[in-house]
Amino acid sequence: MKRVGVLALQGDVGEHVTMLESLESVVVKVRTIEQLESVDALVLPGGESTTIAHLLETSGLRDVLGEKLRSGFPVFGTCAGLILLSSEVLDGRADQWSYGALAVSIRRNGYGRQTASFESPIEVKGVGSVSGVFIRAPRIVAWEERVEVLATLDHGDGRGEHPVFVRQGNVWGAAFHPELAGDPRLHRLFVDSL
Ligand code: GLN
Repeated sequence: MKRVGVLALQGDVGEHVTMLESLESVVVKVRTIEQLESVDALVLPGGESTTIAHLLETSGLRDVLGEKLRSGFPVFGTCAGLILLSSEVLDGRADQWSYGALAVSIRRNGYGRQTASFESPIEVKGVGSVSGVFIRAPRIVAWEERVEVLATLDHGDGRGEHPVFVRQGNVWGAAFHPELAGDPRLHRLFVDSL
């Protein structure tokens, strides 16, 4: 049985734990280097990317996770987690860093602020329609060819389709929150890939 970690520094940790526990995996809340070393894969939850980034530094996890990502460690980031995995954060804070594990450029709050949060059906390759919950969601505005686009959304604002669920090797990212929709199919996709 695979051991799947959920980074438990800030954000909607419990919702991811619930999703993963409904699958055949052992779920570990990761707050320390020892806990990170004990898992086969990690989920980065939604929350506040600058806060999670800060806590990654103070906990000593930042570099350990960076090293693991470079050697192919599987990670799935949702919303703030996607921001942390991306290679470029446009209009982030001046001191905002990200891992560069997904060759995408994202714009924080790229679908509008909190009041512009929305839910939309998303057609995911190989899965079907899932409910996409977008909360101050990042928008993927540019991406390299090596990024596999598994779902897109046309937000209807005249800017066309943008990827909302992507994969690059062992690294997965969703602009929305599959952990909030009560449907574990995207978590299953990740766990089945391990
Ligand atoms: N906009 C938030 C950030 O920059 C992410 C929002 C979320 O995870 N729901 O971290």
